Amino acid sequence: MGSVPESTPSAPSNFIRSLVAEDLRAGKYDGEVVTRFPPEPNGYLHIGHAKSICLNFGLAAEYRGRCHLRFDDTNPAKEDEEYERAIIEDVSWLGFNWGEHLYFASDYYQKFYDCAEELIQKGKAYVDSLSAEEIRTFRGTLTAPGKDSPYRNRSVEENLDLFRRMRAGEFPDGDHVLRARIDMTSPNINLRDPALYRIKHMSHHRTADAWCIYPMYDFAHPISDALEGVTHSVCTLEFEDHRPLYDWVLDNLDLPARPKQIEFARLNLSYTVMSKRRLLQLVNEGHVHGWDDPRMPTISGLRRRGYTPAAIRSFCDRIGVGKSESTIDLSVLEDTLREDLNALAPRVLAVLRPLRVVIVNYPEGQVEIFEGANHPGDPSLGTRNLPFSREIYIERDDFEEDPPKGFFRLAPGREVRLRFAYFIRCDEVVKNEAGEVVELRCSYDPTTRGGSAADGRKVKGTIHWVSASHALKAEVRLYDRLFTVANPTAEKGTDFLDRLNPESMQTLNGCMLEPSLADAEAQKSYQFERQGYFCVDADSAPGRLVFNRTVTLRDSWAKGK
Ligand code: ATP
Ligand code: MG
Repeated sequence: MGSVPESTPSAPSNFIRSLVAEDLRAGKYDGEVVTRFPPEPNGYLHIGHAKSICLNFGLAAEYRGRCHLRFDDTNPAKEDEEYERAIIEDVSWLGFNWGEHLYFASDYYQKFYDCAEELIQKGKAYVDSLSAEEIRTFRGTLTAPGKDSPYRNRSVEENLDLFRRMRAGEFPDGDHVLRARIDMTSPNINLRDPALYRIKHMSHHRTADAWCIYPMYDFAHPISDALEGVTHSVCTLEFEDHRPLYDWVLDNLDLPARPKQIEFARLNLSYTVMSKRRLLQLVNEGHVHGWDDPRMPTISGLRRRGYTPAAIRSFCDRIGVGKSESTIDLSVLEDTLREDLNALAPRVLAVLRPLRVVIVNYPEGQVEIFEGANHPGDPSLGTRNLPFSREIYIERDDFEEDPPKGFFRLAPGREVRLRFAYFIRCDEVVKNEAGEVVELRCSYDPTTRGGSAADGRKVKGTIHWVSASHALKAEVRLYDRLFTVANPTAEKGTDFLDRLNPESMQTLNGCMLEPSLADAEAQKSYQFERQGYFCVDADSAPGRLVFNRTVTLRDSWAKGK
């Protein structure tokens, strides 16, 4: 049984759900709903695939049906096991389960072949010996009808003989193709005798050299669906014009089921690209550090960046399923993520750009432990200990020698609250020879322990800090949009690579984190107060702590609030 995680809120209704519900009411498909997610293992899954995954597994779960995971591996040229492993990991991580229903189109090669012979026997397919170039010219255009190939009327015997010899490897690539015999004058180009099989002397990663002819997608897909008993074959809009061919294949073969193809609009997201070809190019040419680079829109990139499966699922619910192409703004994805992380991420103190502060009236060698709530709104997340001592780090930005109007944090002579600790006042600014501020000398008021003054005086700013001798040193990576424009592929004649954002990744070395983060778990989110949500990066290793910023906070007190 396909299943969806319990946490998935009941998904909003959409036209596909309505169609399925209608079919069930009409008693079609014996009341069953069987869907499938059919990736081609030629790249990693991205957020667009997540939309399709949530839709297909969601439909199956809603109607107590099942959703298959099927590798659509009919093109030996670009496919690889690495991609299969990644796809399995990503769909599972998103929280979906196909049970025993894992399938490979390559397991159906003999079936596809038998179907092809069946069509030949019925006079519905023929072997064409025109060159690829000739086939193109014969096909006609959107405005001009096509012309019949001179080989279109070969006898069944001749077609069978040639097709069997194609399979036996007697011909080089391109010598012949098997074509459906439909209508060269059809207004739908997809019906002008489309190719069903081509010769390709190439090893397949699963069937090795067993085959030297491979079926076309439009032929293999409806058959795969029918063999698996799929009821609703949901795909993206670019296949709308292929639906008559999908139906033709099913109508002309003797198959165990009659699936229905339904198309929906693919997800487009601003400031990124979603075609596998372009993603592959970004990886191969080293514009990013791999498929799971946290700037990539891939599921593995989002995971490494610190996205949660729940956030991705609610995003897919939120954007809905429709029939018209649109682009969703990246901020919608980020907002959904923030909502999820806000509820569950423990709060911690971390200084990204440290400035040393010596509290001159604090006893040398003394350490106090403050208890910090892990979450302001959820006491069940508990507390942790924060050591405090004479030397601390604060954020460089939290000090201004010459504070502008509206700046309420630390400045010469000013007092601020250290989160969970004391009020401190800046008494002296220490600079290096270049005139840069390298240290502040401050004094604390022991009567303000815990953050409020006994005499009732107020401070306007609260800043975060870490104790210098207890701090964990870390590398922190901050991310920005991968591209500088919303649609990097919009302009014809320009290269999308020219729109890469040169500042999409910034590495900060020497960040100082509160010591509780020594136990930070992989895949777990932390809110660095005032800085955003962060998670441990895969590059982290003993002695080398690396964090990613997943997303900034919606409104940060850093702006002086
Ligand atoms: P390519 O970019 O090579 O055409 P693809 O992204 O369509 O590939 P597939 O492996 O064929 O990749 O996709 C698997 C399934 O995911 C298909 O059913 C496809 O329609 C769906 N899908 C792919 N991209 C999106 C998208 N951006 N939004 C929604 N669904 C998508
Ligand atoms: Mg595709």
